[in-house]
Amino acid sequence: MPAPILRLQGVTKRFGSFTALKGIDLEIEEGEFFTIVGPSGSGKSTLIRLLVGMEDLTEGAIWLRDRRIDQVPANRRPTCMVFQSLALFPHMTVGQNIEFPLKIRGVAAERRRERALELLELLRLPRNYHARRIQQCSGGERQRVALARALAFDPEILFFDEPLSALDYRLRKTLEKELKDLHARTGKTFVYITHSLEEAMVMSDRIAILRAGRFEQIATADEIYARPSSRFVAEFMGEVNLFGGRLSEGAFQPEEPGLRMARDPAALGLDLPEAGAATIMVRPEFLRFLNGGETADFVLAGRMIEQYALGSRLQYEVELPSGRHLTVEKLREDAFAGPRGSEVEVGFDADHVHVIRGD
Ligand code: ATP
Repeated sequence: MPAPILRLQGVTKRFGSFTALKGIDLEIEEGEFFTIVGPSGSGKSTLIRLLVGMEDLTEGAIWLRDRRIDQVPANRRPTCMVFQSLALFPHMTVGQNIEFPLKIRGVAAERRRERALELLELLRLPRNYHARRIQQCSGGERQRVALARALAFDPEILFFDEPLSALDYRLRKTLEKELKDLHARTGKTFVYITHSLEEAMVMSDRIAILRAGRFEQIATADEIYARPSSRFVAEFMGEVNLFGGRLSEGAFQPEEPGLRMARDPAALGLDLPEAGAATIMVRPEFLRFLNGGETADFVLAGRMIEQYALGSRLQYEVELPSGRHLTVEKLREDAFAGPRGSEVEVGFDADHVHVIRGD
């Protein structure tokens, strides 16, 4: 594996008696698109502020390659941050905005202009936007100008603090793809924070899930989605059905009384612990409605109580006799035919199950 571009060791941040970040260790690879997700208050902004030097850490160290940077002031770090609010200068032209970081570094006017035109092209904005005022640009164009400005002095790493959160859905979707594409074209390291999981999943090479100042899991989007390390991560990564239980005397005892198992899960090749608590996880797309005679490794009987259209898919809510609800998702062509209130049997197989160990 190549040496990391950014390395954090035991990074801790306290505000008075409150500890916002609790001994974070992390390595980010050169050229990676690395995203930090977490619920509100988990410490995302605090972490990114430490990384760019807008906040001092309480304990620990941060290295950029082999240089320790946690004592280096923000304006002397070879990194750059794109804020949610963009912080463009509204009275200046697009060109003046992009050239600003170069101007304060004393780059000559001709070279600045050349670089700004190069960046307009990189961001797929017309050259004549150089003379356009920021107020005359759309929301999406402003985002591109902010990105061009961030890239102007060729930073080692770009940090993003929820840059798309204020935009409408369609524009956000377009810009997600553009950012991913820009990342590929520039080969730069991108460190991105968001509370939108969807955004994280579309763009990132790896995702870190932050919870109350600690990383709960760091892995690719696919890995986190299919094999979350905890119930928290499983629930944070979208809709999921979880069945808690305990292993005793080699057999799995589910808490859900209606969960029938064709065979004991141990015989189904699941990665169960020897003893103690475990949770069986299955995503809604792997549940299926069983028609007379059909069977599955795990079966539940219930009543279909609600149905929602999610564009290309349909989501169903099934109520079990225990009162608990299951979520089932189907493509439109596999839609459930019966009316709301129908008695249904729902099943899933062991090869779609992931086991989470512990409570
Ligand atoms: P959000 O998604 O809502 O922006 P976040 O994950 O970015 O949340 P942070 O802003 O990093 O969370 O805050 C983490 C915790 O640290 C919160 O409980 C917050 O109240 C606390 N905190 C942040 N800044 C300060 C500060 N200057 N003084 C005291 N507490 C702070």
